[in-house]
Amino acid sequence: MTETITNWAGNITFSAKELHRPYSFDAISALVAGSERVRVLGSGHSFNAIAEPGPEGVLLSIAALPPAIDVDREARTVRVSGGVRYAELARAVYAHGLALPNMASLPHISVAGSVATGTHGSGVGNGSLATSVREVELVTADGSVVTVGRDDPRFGGAVTSLGALGVVTALTLDLQPSFDVEQHIFTELPLDGLDLGKFETVMAAAYSVSLFTDWREPGFRQVWLKRRTDQPLPDFPWAAPATEKLHPVPGMPAVNCTEQFGVPGPWHQRLPHFRAEFTPSSGAELQSEYLLPRRCAVEALRAVDGIRGTAAPVLQTCEVRAVAADEQWLSPSYGRDTVALHFTWIADTAAVLPVVRRLEEALDAFEPRPHWGKVFTVPAEVLRGRYPRLADFRALARELDPAGKFANAFVRDVLEG
Ligand SMILES: Cc1cc2nc3c(=O)[nH]c(=O)nc-3n(C[C@H](O)[C@H](O)[C@H](O)COP(=O)(O)OP(=O)(O)OC[C@H]3O[C@@H](n4cnc5c(N)ncnc54)[C@H](O)[C@@H]3O)c2cc1C
Repeated sequence: MTETITNWAGNITFSAKELHRPYSFDAISALVAGSERVRVLGSGHSFNAIAEPGPEGVLLSIAALPPAIDVDREARTVRVSGGVRYAELARAVYAHGLALPNMASLPHISVAGSVATGTHGSGVGNGSLATSVREVELVTADGSVVTVGRDDPRFGGAVTSLGALGVVTALTLDLQPSFDVEQHIFTELPLDGLDLGKFETVMAAAYSVSLFTDWREPGFRQVWLKRRTDQPLPDFPWAAPATEKLHPVPGMPAVNCTEQFGVPGPWHQRLPHFRAEFTPSSGAELQSEYLLPRRCAVEALRAVDGIRGTAAPVLQTCEVRAVAADEQWLSPSYGRDTVALHFTWIADTAAVLPVVRRLEEALDAFEPRPHWGKVFTVPAEVLRGRYPRLADFRALARELDPAGKFANAFVRDVLEG
């Protein structure tokens, strides 16, 4: 059977003619053991060829495995199959009176695919989604299972692994008691007068903060504060409260977005920007994102402002978030408190790529690490210099996958050059 398999955005058509969807764990092991090249596709929300298996390779989805979501209330953990999406996981966790510490802007993405690329939400005190993981279960190249937990010296490479170590069939995540969140939106925060001290204060004004702009003006159109109701009400004198519900992309309907105007609700219905039952973001788009040291945030924003005449014509929205440092060797926020500069472009690769290159030149001095799942052109040899533990990851990949069964062109380029 031949099918056309694309990513969510439709800008990548995978060369595989079939998406294998085994129903059982044993079938996954047998397929992996009997194949020369394998890549796993999660929910397909990445914007580049990171999941591409190559012409002779097998593309595998584990979404048809019976979904396991086993909550241990006493230990405050959940063991979840890798193919489960955050929306489903969050509902089950919430039903037990528990919570994940954070979520990305959309709940539609799979758990294993998200942590594999270092996907993050926002918050000066919140690490990427991978920081909740305490154990990973992998089907490795010979079809056998390897479990790597936090006390294993290999753990630093095992979660944000770009899919290069094996098929992640399950993960165990830390949970915390459930909490409620209110969303308060402000408009028109000028860039003028923004110094690092003020930037840090703005980003720390609530549990999770996002700034949005289309760079048609030098400042932010929207500021989204997500306040935990068990934390103080923020004083936010720098911008005016929104007078209507807003979507981060100008002109898009706010009905797609999670509840605003300070209406309290459970964590999983407020931390994402987009509701699980609607198309997230604009739906017709490409995305890029650069994660750089937070101490460089204001200089980096001024550098983007310097090219806004180039960026704005192909930009739908730009989001600025904070991510706490983590310890996953290939995490874009490894070892540094981070500011993440995200760009939702129009869905036109030819028009967007020259702007991406120009943006990368403008940000180069800040040593940005591009989001692994989004559009970037930073050369692999430059990337390698930005990951101090890359050699450790390469050694781990060789240990678990000596013949490079899970290494596609994207991964080989990053690891070997
Ligand atoms: C509308 C939209 C909004 C987004 N918002 C955010 C955001 O707020 N924050 C952010 O950081 N990112 C965001 N992203 C990017 C997105 O989170 C990442 O691209 C993420 O990797 C998507 O997860 P996925 O399951 O779709 O992964 P895929 O794109 O399917 O795969 C990503 C990688 O994970 C590997 N993989 C997937 N499943 C497995 C498995 N079971 N075992 C081994 N390897 C596996 C794949 O081989 C591939 O290398 C957004 C994307 C979209 C489309």
